[in-house]
Amino acid sequence: MGPAGESIGGAAALEGIADEIRGCTRCPLAARRTRTVPGEGNVLSDVLLVGEGPGAREDATGRPFVGPAGGLLDELLGAIGWERGDVFITNVVKCRPPANRDPEPAEIATCADYLDRQERALGPAVVVSLGRHSLQRYLPGARIGAVHGQLRRSFTGQHVFPMYHPAAALHQASLRETLFRDIRGLPAALLAARQALGNEAQRSAEAEEAATRAIEPEQLADDAEQMTLF
Ligand code: URA
Repeated sequence: MGPAGESIGGAAALEGIADEIRGCTRCPLAARRTRTVPGEGNVLSDVLLVGEGPGAREDATGRPFVGPAGGLLDELLGAIGWERGDVFITNVVKCRPPANRDPEPAEIATCADYLDRQERALGPAVVVSLGRHSLQRYLPGARIGAVHGQLRRSFTGQHVFPMYHPAAALHQASLRETLFRDIRGLPAALLAARQALGNEAQRSAEAEEAATRAIEPEQLADDAEQMTLF
């Protein structure tokens, strides 16, 4: 879904980051993990999905969203004609928090460097935040109830499409309908984000062109003639 020219360097960078994550011991989560879960998907995709952290099945397999919440995520993507191979999926923390507790702020902060670099390597047009912890990374202070299903811009300028975490719908059936309604807005949000990014790239190319345009020699001669030194 993204420009092919960015793929080779991006894929190599992502593999390098994944290797670093596999050897990571930066926070206490490392001691209790079975496997790290760096993330996976289409390195050309313009869409990055960011969940919270691995659960039991993810910890056992090293793959994101392969448990019950992952089953629902597959269904959600299917509802808009996408599959997981069309997007890239990762989490704010790459190791399983014990007993599936929420990741702690210090763990999220320690792991943030990996996600920062994954984002730079992928250059997604839209980040889909899944759940509260992912939302706080992009829109600090935002309430999921107020922003879900709406395209927003983060303070760094990223386009973010917040959604409830699929696991929440496994506990609260009414959220299932909300999730399906929200994801149906994602293709239009992607188009809007691409359009905005394209317009911005064009405006900045024009500004750069104007700033570096050569000054006509005749104009310089005229100006020099009229110049006084004091
Ligand atoms: N929940 C998440 O947030 N991420 C996963 O990878 C699995 C479940």
